[in-house]
Amino acid sequence: MKSQEIARRWLDYFEGQGHTRVPSASLVSSDPSLLFTVAGMVPFIPYLTAREVPPYSRATSIQKCIRTADIEEVGKTARHGTFFQMCGNFSFGDYFKQDAIAMAWDLLTRSVADGGFGLAPERLWVTVYQDDEEALAIWRDEVGFPAERIQKFGKKDNYWNTGQPGPGGPCSEIFYDRGPEYGRDGGPQADEDRYIEIWNLVFMQYRLSAVRSKDDFDIAGELPKKNIDTGLGLERLAMVLQGVENMYETDQVRPVLDKAAELSGREYTSAESDDDPHHQDDVRMRVVADHIRSALMLITDGVSPSNEGRGYVLRRLIRRAVRAMRLLGVEKACLPDLLPVSRDAMKGVYPEVERDFERISRIAYAEEKAFLRTIASGTARLEEAVRESRSAGRALSGEDAFSLHDTYGFPIDLTLEMAEEAGVSVDAERFRSLMLEQRQRAQADARGKKAGHADMTVFNELLASGETSFTGYDELTSEAIVRG
Ligand code: ATP
Ligand code: MG
Ligand code: MG
Ligand code: MG
Repeated sequence: MKSQEIARRWLDYFEGQGHTRVPSASLVSSDPSLLFTVAGMVPFIPYLTAREVPPYSRATSIQKCIRTADIEEVGKTARHGTFFQMCGNFSFGDYFKQDAIAMAWDLLTRSVADGGFGLAPERLWVTVYQDDEEALAIWRDEVGFPAERIQKFGKKDNYWNTGQPGPGGPCSEIFYDRGPEYGRDGGPQADEDRYIEIWNLVFMQYRLSAVRSKDDFDIAGELPKKNIDTGLGLERLAMVLQGVENMYETDQVRPVLDKAAELSGREYTSAESDDDPHHQDDVRMRVVADHIRSALMLITDGVSPSNEGRGYVLRRLIRRAVRAMRLLGVEKACLPDLLPVSRDAMKGVYPEVERDFERISRIAYAEEKAFLRTIASGTARLEEAVRESRSAGRALSGEDAFSLHDTYGFPIDLTLEMAEEAGVSVDAERFRSLMLEQRQRAQADARGKKAGHADMTVFNELLASGETSFTGYDELTSEAIVRG
């Protein structure tokens, strides 16, 4: 089943259950304290927090999302994209736990002929919050779900809250078992690669007080109006329904992956394990496929590359894609080959990517060109530093690596790789501590700036699970690479 068909069935189903179809909001959240829309519920925050009266009591949407917090997972797990689409159904003081669970179960297991997704019930596992006896009883007694495939999780995994006194409540999640060839038996508690999380049902039920941390708080009472917020990853369901190994092989992403393989003349093999000699190249192709799509969708929604905030994320995505292509052996500009492929894969659902492609591609291609120029000019500086280190018989200094990064925008992984090729080591330790100092300065700045809209910032930060505490990009990647 194609992604577009999954989306259509989702909306049809919930519309049939009395929900109003709400178009996806922009990736650029209208809330200035949130970098991007990170979940289907973001556009509904005013209704969920009862700040505004909703024009409907039930809504459904397929929301475009960006989660930069997941960037390091891309291509390595089967299930994390920087861009993805979250299918959601919402109740604002209308139906609650029982109906939310019943509808989720019905839609997933209902036959394809009958408008459902036709998943085999015996492949599904469910988690509930440890003290949510009500959810447990609904799954077990009303749905008839086998108790041995229901697992209990604590506050850390299965409790939604804002980290502040206010609304909160337990979650129940649905997982799909990909089978023994993907990992250990024992359900989601045992193996998150084999048991893929597909759907999160959040029951906004309580008023929390004395919130000491995200997983340590008191429950002060029931909310007068209880809400439902659910999110299912469209790409994750697509991967299951299309019988492919990961979300990068689904119909809206795979064509770019194939193009990257073609351009590099290397074969894509679906390698899962890093023991596999093809794994590294396969991860690079998945990164390219993911990041190119995210860049396309971000530029479509009005983001342009820059050195801070949203533009910095876009810049990082494009550079990481270009860098991955370079590591695959392609040094020429490749966005003119890759971006149109992503456009063609996405235009069925988002016609604006085609309508606006002239503008989108101009921005993307210019950014790639600029980065290739950076690489070219940084290379001269790097070669000079390599010569000096070699003649002095020492490692390339942390200061040099840092200045290449900071002044020339020359990524540390490139410095490491090229220095190594020239037979010179790099003082990565010193580089790391310089990066850390810079990050601490940036964080101090960010704290200063955030004071203005304290309340929603904390709320949104938690929604974003770390998303808004963004402190600039190369740091994280560089550290991961330096540490190996
Ligand atoms: P995971 O534990 O797999 O990282 P999550 O618990 O962070 O997922 P939620 O915040 O519960 O995810 O989001 C709701 C749903 O959105 C998930 O059940 C999943 O299907 C989907 N989803 C979340 N993050 C991603 C992502 N980075 N790429 C694709 N789909 C995602
Ligand atoms: Mg996650
Ligand atoms: Mg999870
Ligand atoms: Mg979840």
